[in-house]
Amino acid sequence: MAKQNQNAISPTREQDYPEWYQQVIKAADMAERSPVRGCMVIKPWGYALWENIVSQMDRMFKATGVRNAYFPLFIPIGFLEKEAEHVEGFAKECAVVTHHRLEQGDQGGLVPGAPLTEPLVVRPTSETIIGDSFSKWINSYRDLPLLINQWANVVRWEMRTRIFLRTSEFLWQEGHTAHASDTEAIERTLMMLKLYTRMVQDDLAIPVIEGRKTEAERFPGAVDTFCIEAMMQDRKALQAGTSHFLGQNFARASNISFQTETEGEDFAWTTSWGTSTRLIGGLIMTHGDDDGLIMPPRVAPSHVVLLPIYRKPDERQKVMKYVNDLATNIRQIPYAGRGLVVEIDDRDIGGARGWDWIKKGIPLRVEIGPRDMANDAVFMARRDKPHRDKTVVPRTEFLSQLPAMLDEIQDELFQRALRFRDNNTRFIDELNDFYAWFTPKNSEKPEIHGGFAMSHWCGDGNCEATVKEDLNVTIRCIPLAAEQEAGKCICCGKPSDRRVVFAKAY
Ligand SMILES: [Zn+2]
Repeated sequence: MAKQNQNAISPTREQDYPEWYQQVIKAADMAERSPVRGCMVIKPWGYALWENIVSQMDRMFKATGVRNAYFPLFIPIGFLEKEAEHVEGFAKECAVVTHHRLEQGDQGGLVPGAPLTEPLVVRPTSETIIGDSFSKWINSYRDLPLLINQWANVVRWEMRTRIFLRTSEFLWQEGHTAHASDTEAIERTLMMLKLYTRMVQDDLAIPVIEGRKTEAERFPGAVDTFCIEAMMQDRKALQAGTSHFLGQNFARASNISFQTETEGEDFAWTTSWGTSTRLIGGLIMTHGDDDGLIMPPRVAPSHVVLLPIYRKPDERQKVMKYVNDLATNIRQIPYAGRGLVVEIDDRDIGGARGWDWIKKGIPLRVEIGPRDMANDAVFMARRDKPHRDKTVVPRTEFLSQLPAMLDEIQDELFQRALRFRDNNTRFIDELNDFYAWFTPKNSEKPEIHGGFAMSHWCGDGNCEATVKEDLNVTIRCIPLAAEQEAGKCICCGKPSDRRVVFAKAY
């Protein structure tokens, strides 16, 4: 007899992490490649996850006074030219529309007809076009602060793409605010960073480090960029969200000026902040295992799947009635700001049925057959436990404990990820140790290396560049919580007063 594959996903994480990632997305039916190179089709199971992320975050934004608006997909090319650093940072990734109208070509196919007088850029981010509106909306200090968010798609022409992590088109939110003082703008920048931390840690169960970017890693045109960084299971870092203090740079470029309280004239202080469908990639790589995805309950598209078991037609009717009643009861239970979502799967496909839901990462699987029904009980399995680990629970107890059980799974996923990060983070003070930490033992599998290094850095961009050149390791952030500590730069040995997070990154 052929040896059964032990895991639902092949290869395993250990065997080939990048391929494992693609296979999990496929097995969970989240998304697929599109006919357009570098773009993705997000399927219902993936999109429902995104919708839950959106609704949680949208609620949090609005609670701080932010309002949603929508701006054009196209940006006049002249707008991007207004902020020099900004245009330099994005120019290489811009998709440009040069024509309108399609005409029948000589060879039979369709060809672009009329050139545009001014080419349009498909937004890679919207600072410039939103800035143009802000310059019209803001006249006096009474118009400030202005707190706007946009849910949209953006395009950044990428050569090497990976679903959810780096795609030419992706979905995101971009917040843009304008303030009367730098203090207020910085306060908002950090407020949104903290909000991202709360969302990513509490809802996605992904532990993050809050920090400030170095000059080299800053958003083009920003005075200061703050970020949250998470560790994936291949020990690489993923930037999960950023919040930028833009000073008066963009206000100057877009002429966002206002009359001050003392009748003077000043440029506004602006911020921008964003998170994207990249969070889904982060969720998969943080929680997935060799059997597929594991959905944190608070953002899971569905929480429970009911799997009726019957042999004869008369059994079917009774079991289905019991299952439908149970589903109705479950749907009435509130959880994480919405009702619990239940799936009923009565497909007659044998063991593949349970495995489909394991691969999709649904938090709870519940089997119900005539015997369970006779005992008024359910046969239950949790996705955070081994798949054979199933328990019989009386129906009433199951219903009353559902929210607590889901919270327990949510917490376990967070704690598991936190332990993983702690186990793969080292305080490193010697250059040799540092190089060894980031050198994979097997050059065939470069993704398996040490993890995060907490090391001293003198603040010199040359030291940062050397490490990047040699090891492809970057300073992910200067942690906000970093304590002052005298040490020596890992690269040059000059004095440093705090440790920073070094890592390979997505
Ligand atoms: Zn140095």
